[in-house]
Amino acid sequence: MGPIDKENKDLRRSLHLLASKVERNEAILRSFFEIELRLLSCSNLAELLDLILIDFKQHFRLTAVNLILFDPECAARCLLEDYTPPEPGHSLRFVTNQRLLKSLFPTSELRIGELSAPLKSIAFPSNPYVLSSALLPLIRHNCLIGSLHLGSNDPARYSEHFDYDYIGHLASVIAVCFENCINQQNLKRLSIIDMLTKVNNRRAFDQEIIRELSRASRNKTPLSCLFIDLDYFKLVNDSFGHQVGDKVLRSVGLLLNKNLRKTDFVARYGGEEFAILLPNCDSEKAIEIGNQLRHKILHMVVHNNDNEPFRVSASIGVTSCCHSSFAFDNLDAQAHAVLKAADEAVYLAKEKGRNRIEYRSLPDMKPELFSQLSGDLKSI
Ligand code: GH3
Ligand code: MG
Ligand code: MG
Repeated sequence: MGPIDKENKDLRRSLHLLASKVERNEAILRSFFEIELRLLSCSNLAELLDLILIDFKQHFRLTAVNLILFDPECAARCLLEDYTPPEPGHSLRFVTNQRLLKSLFPTSELRIGELSAPLKSIAFPSNPYVLSSALLPLIRHNCLIGSLHLGSNDPARYSEHFDYDYIGHLASVIAVCFENCINQQNLKRLSIIDMLTKVNNRRAFDQEIIRELSRASRNKTPLSCLFIDLDYFKLVNDSFGHQVGDKVLRSVGLLLNKNLRKTDFVARYGGEEFAILLPNCDSEKAIEIGNQLRHKILHMVVHNNDNEPFRVSASIGVTSCCHSSFAFDNLDAQAHAVLKAADEAVYLAKEKGRNRIEYRSLPDMKPELFSQLSGDLKSI
């Protein structure tokens, strides 16, 4: 073989190596673009966490994925009440100060390679098989908002000798996604929550009743509605001041939330009025639940500003929809009818002396009644 042949052979080998490197790099970039798109399309925090904690592991063939989030005011945890991460307590942790995050990222730089034993126990508390890792600082507005730990059992997977620009970019995208999801969900939450009592507000109730009526008519299950109006509440304000009145409203909100099923829906409908939807609950059961709540409110002790105890009572109106009282083609009119009946039942309870519960059945829902009902409601 002459020198030219040899040179050509070497060049061909180099070319082949370069081509396969290009292919590998392209595959890595494609995989990052794909995950980036999925990150950007997450619409809530739970979805984002599942993508990072579960799907990342598979997608990037990792041994462990752990995350620490800086959550000083519990904003993230509030949004994740019903969320269970994989390996609870390990894969996802929250910190309320920056000490731990700063110890992982003293210079706010990506940390690649093998970790010292103390750092490993922080980054991967439940996984001794991690032999190399990438620790990604999640930074927004110059503040460390979290730390994402990608761990591999391959000691050569993450090495400080290589460049990991794309991982740094991924960290920036993830930080933005966290901030967006938390902000968006918080805004949505604020728009449906009553700030004083922290139960749902009237707007949320008006949307929920339509959803529940639709579900009940589809599944042919009953739906009950309770209206709770505190008795002589003006007197509470007049005697003890508005602040003490507010405290009563907060306590009632808490009491209602605590004493109902997760599937029930509690809202502050007006000043001292609460409305509750009880899915899959017939009139008999609704009256029983309403009476239990009435007793609980009556026995709830509140203290005025002089620390003297006092109690309040409530009048409750109940109505129920069952299969035969559904107007399938007009849920708005059905909702109006439910609210009107529950409201009338409260008035009846007031008339009969307060601190009692009254039931009012729905009128027969004939189509010609719809417009009349909607009109009537304006005067409630
Ligand atoms: P009834 O037994 O007939 O229901 O009498 P009531 O005094 O409860 O009813 P009324 O409608 O006369 O008064 C309701 C009171 O609720 C008047 C209002 O000052 C008070 N209220 C409404 N919203 C709030 C609030 O956000 N905080 C406080 N502290 N009071 C409120
Ligand atoms: Mg009232
Ligand atoms: Mg009242």
